[in-house]
Amino acid sequence: MNRIQNYIDGNLKSISNTYLPVEDPSKGEIISEVVLSNEKDFQDVINSSTKAFDSWKDVTPLKRARILFKYKEIIEKNIENLAKIVSVEHGKTLDDAKGSVLRGLEVVEFACGIPHLLKGEFSQNVGSSIDSWSTRQPIGVCAGVTPFNFPAMVPMWMYPISIACGNTFILKPSEKDPSCSIKLAELFSESGLPDGVFNIINGDKETVTRLIESSQISSISFVGSTPVAKSIYEKSAKYGKRVQALGGAKNHLVVMPDANIDQAVDGIIGAGYGSAGERCMAISAVVAVGDVVDELTEKIINKAQTLKVAPWTDNSSEMGPVISKEHKIKIESYIQEGVKEGAELLLDGRNCKIQGYENGYFLGPSLFDKVDKNMKIYQEEIFGPVLCVIRAKNYDEALQLVNEHKFGNGTSIYTSDGEISRHFTTNCKIGMVGVNVPIPVPMAFHSFGGWKQSLFGDHAMHGEEGIRFYTKLKTITSRWPKSIKSGPEFVIPTN
Ligand code: NAD
Repeated sequence: MNRIQNYIDGNLKSISNTYLPVEDPSKGEIISEVVLSNEKDFQDVINSSTKAFDSWKDVTPLKRARILFKYKEIIEKNIENLAKIVSVEHGKTLDDAKGSVLRGLEVVEFACGIPHLLKGEFSQNVGSSIDSWSTRQPIGVCAGVTPFNFPAMVPMWMYPISIACGNTFILKPSEKDPSCSIKLAELFSESGLPDGVFNIINGDKETVTRLIESSQISSISFVGSTPVAKSIYEKSAKYGKRVQALGGAKNHLVVMPDANIDQAVDGIIGAGYGSAGERCMAISAVVAVGDVVDELTEKIINKAQTLKVAPWTDNSSEMGPVISKEHKIKIESYIQEGVKEGAELLLDGRNCKIQGYENGYFLGPSLFDKVDKNMKIYQEEIFGPVLCVIRAKNYDEALQLVNEHKFGNGTSIYTSDGEISRHFTTNCKIGMVGVNVPIPVPMAFHSFGGWKQSLFGDHAMHGEEGIRFYTKLKTITSRWPKSIKSGPEFVIPTN
């Protein structure tokens, strides 16, 4: 059985002899094991990252950028392989996996501009003969804890920027699909990154606790479910750490009666069922405004029924399995609960069997209509291929639904009314907003982050926010005195 180790100081190694199983969710089979690191592994990674920081912080931003340029090239050459590693352990289609690596690569491209991004501000004459300027300096050893659903992209929201800023980085990937991170680290070493600048420690919540409690770690970047995000935020603050903790979501897509319905349906299908609904920017609540509901649900049903659910090895697959047996059972129980609460189940994705993959964790697309805002299936994040249609009399009622929900990650509105769109983008209490765009994921040079229970902390990921998170601001005020010596050599000509 393949054993996935830690990546420390440029080597695959681990001291602990305890391992957790890693599955192929398409087959429902254990395919490898990942090390559950112990205290000695942790000390090893801390020593390596702390030592590497001493010299990495002084490497000039231009030299750091050159390594990142090389890394970009090497990742481009390895996209197919990286995508395959993602698909095997996660189950998403190969195209989807490739797309996610490309989105991560865009952060590397952004980080290549680090000499420019670290330029500070300057004010001349803040007083007579006094100038003031600011600079951003690295914060030290940074840590990242990431979820299973984007094993390449989410880590890449973090470490390329942190490292570009002059920090060293320790990643604790999801124990469910840890292999891609190891490959990404090996490729970074191949690009010329000194040993210890990017380390990986595998494990579960115990390893995360060690990261939070270590006095040698300056910051925690977390992406995962809301209860864990909240607790990580609180604990990290207690230990005096800088923290950004991104949580769960319930993203609403509002369809106005004047929307291009076919475009909206295409968007809903891709954003609701793509990657089996296991995206933090997945659409899980469709708000049908006015009389749009019948045409909308009919078209969603027609399209959803044609979706090909199959393992990633089938090139025509449009939707793979969910991540685990437990998660499949959890999603099925939400569907059961929705029926019990009185929502109308228009499409039931349970009992989805794929020939040859009978033990895989497959679910077909499910669709509920007449969902009420007090129902559990509306209030909670299901994180599976289950769409809830909730009806609103008018725009005002739709906006209220969006704003009253506890999550605030993403939302979108489909309409041809410019005035309504502008009102929506201005007044919705959500971090990332789309207009006639189903998944409004910001590009790498903007920043990714929600509001309310979807983000704990002050900074979103990547873009300028990432640079601010991974650096400390220093402001210098300098008086330029006259020399204590005098003579003709020191005379400044007058104009
Ligand atoms: P999760 O919260 O179970 O795990 C995330 C990470 O935290 C993993 O590395 C895990 O090992 C660790 N962890 C789990 N329990 C912990 C605990 N009690 N203490 C400390 N660490 C712990 O999340 P998941 O199931 O891997 O991922 C799915 C969730 O992530 C969904 O809720 C999804 O919305 C969210 N997500 C959010 C974003 C975003 O940008 N807001 C992006 C991707 C995923």
